[in-house]
Amino acid sequence: MNQSPSIGERDLRSALLRGLRGECPACGGARLFGRFLKPVSHCPACGQDWTLHSADDMPAYLVVLILGHVLVPILVAVNMRYDLPMWLDMSLWPGLALIMALAMIQPVKGAVIGFQWAKRMHGFAGGR
Ligand SMILES: [Zn+2]
Repeated sequence: MNQSPSIGERDLRSALLRGLRGECPACGGARLFGRFLKPVSHCPACGQDWTLHSADDMPAYLVVLILGHVLVPILVAVNMRYDLPMWLDMSLWPGLALIMALAMIQPVKGAVIGFQWAKRMHGFAGGR
């Protein structure tokens, strides 16, 4: 599982994929998140310090960006084809948006942390 790159190199693709899956972007050998959106302080498998990340609002921004590009075209297409009652429109789309946002936020945050780690951003500049 651990495809260790040469010293100094960090594989962006595997870091992004591991982060998306909620695994440690550095080794993939343990979970990245201790709670829903709270990364563990250190990876129990490789010891990487995850308190160094600075994902901030980027995951929420990306979720809104992706959600808007997926859900709005579906909303428009459905409403052009079907005459939904107002109560259904008013509950279906916000409900779907909430469910999709909750489903996407942890994987997107994992990918953002993986990106920062692979690109040695913020506190990830040092180390192996
Ligand atoms: Zn690890």
